[in-house]
Amino acid sequence: MQQRTPLIAGNWKMHKTVDQARETARQLAALAADADGVEAMIAPPFTALAPVAEVLGQGPVRLGAQNLFHEDEGAFTGEVSAPMLVSAGCRYVIIGHSERRQYFGETDRTVNLKIAAALRAGLRPIFCIGESETEREAQKTFSVLDKQVRKGLEGLSLAQLTPLVMAYEPVWAIGTGKAASPQQAQEVHAFVRSLLAEMYDTALAQSVRILYGGSVKPANVRELMALADVDGALVGGASLDAGTFSQLINYRK
Ligand code: PEP
Repeated sequence: MQQRTPLIAGNWKMHKTVDQARETARQLAALAADADGVEAMIAPPFTALAPVAEVLGQGPVRLGAQNLFHEDEGAFTGEVSAPMLVSAGCRYVIIGHSERRQYFGETDRTVNLKIAAALRAGLRPIFCIGESETEREAQKTFSVLDKQVRKGLEGLSLAQLTPLVMAYEPVWAIGTGKAASPQQAQEVHAFVRSLLAEMYDTALAQSVRILYGGSVKPANVRELMALADVDGALVGGASLDAGTFSQLINYRK
């Protein structure tokens, strides 16, 4: 069976000044120094990327960004490109988070362009998908996810997708304290993996890490990480405090 290194990724959203970000990163680097085969990543706001990269250095915690624009450079005021993120020290970038889709007009098409841009620059995209509460209640979960995955990966070849990471984040579970049940999470993760097998091949489907996101906390991380198709977590609120986030990174201990 394929071994997938678990990834615990923190999304700091629009939190922390440069000084606060540096301090949290410093604490986290110490607390995550010996994470027992688990990879850790934090995604601070753009302003803190380069300073946090300096703090993290070659240590155990990787750096990611929360978004990018799909062009590499040009007259796009206010945007940040994939090569810029690489130059700031990023290895990962979160793409298509439901807050981006909800508040900033991101669509399956823009998500697709962003994933392609990340891959071109050598960044690992963390491609977020998830259904709303209304869609789940209307039994549309699988059709919504099917469309998000197919459109998000449109035109991308098998060879390009080796660095891909997926994140299933039910919108109703983000920041609500109401995580998906282990059964709900496993069912969706297995579905996404089989969809990747159908669209590409079994080897890719078995190697892609599928993270769960939505109210992951120290109290529920172990039961989620024990699921066959859950390969990590994308964490919002519980990633802001180094002590709490390190408990997630160290879930195996
Ligand atoms: C997120 O924003 O990706 C997220 C999962 O948030 P939280 O952990 O706070 O639910």
